[in-house]
Amino acid sequence: MNLRSRIARLAVVSMAAAGTLTVVDAAAPAQAAACNGYVGLTFDDGPSGNTPALLNALKQNGLRATMFNQGQYAAAYPAQVKAQVDAGMWVGNHSYTHPHLTQQSQSVIDSEISRTQQAVAGAGGGTPKLFRPPYGETNSTVQAVAAKYGLTQIIWDVDSQDWNGASTDAIVAAAARLTGGQIILMHDWSANSLAAIPRIAQGLAGRGLCAGMISPQTGRAVAPG
Ligand SMILES: [Zn+2]
Repeated sequence: MNLRSRIARLAVVSMAAAGTLTVVDAAAPAQAAACNGYVGLTFDDGPSGNTPALLNALKQNGLRATMFNQGQYAAAYPAQVKAQVDAGMWVGNHSYTHPHLTQQSQSVIDSEISRTQQAVAGAGGGTPKLFRPPYGETNSTVQAVAAKYGLTQIIWDVDSQDWNGASTDAIVAAAARLTGGQIILMHDWSANSLAAIPRIAQGLAGRGLCAGMISPQTGRAVAPG
């Protein structure tokens, strides 16, 4: 920086300090921080007794996520399904009992998906539009049944490995690999994923990424609609 530009910069700073210059960034509310892209945070296998702490952590860090609930737990913890929605989360279908769907008959697959639609809706979670097959295992029959119920199948781009004993550091590092539009797999029951949430939020903010919804049309993370 040469002397002339240094003086010009000092002038701008002093004008801003005196309140004679409107600094656009500083005038914008914190909530309106620019989002250069959106990522989809997902938590599978809830709801459960862990759900309240997870929702609190997400809310406190300004994050929204998609919760792929098991129907059996939506039926057992209906208040937590409602709490997910009230906390600004999106609720998806993750089958009723979490079987390996590719090893099931079409009628069992249909029952697993349809009962979960009913359980989530009955709990106040709305009728899901997104479906994640257990273990990410799918085939043409699973996809056809999901489509019958108006569901878009969502797998993931980044696996946090929280289900496989990943440390909090490793989960934070996994989230750091997300790029715009991508989706990360985490779990409602993972204490390490819960602990990672503040650092995930900081990391995304530092890269100009925001937590978004998953579009049923494209299966990609997009701005909340
Ligand atoms: Zn699962």
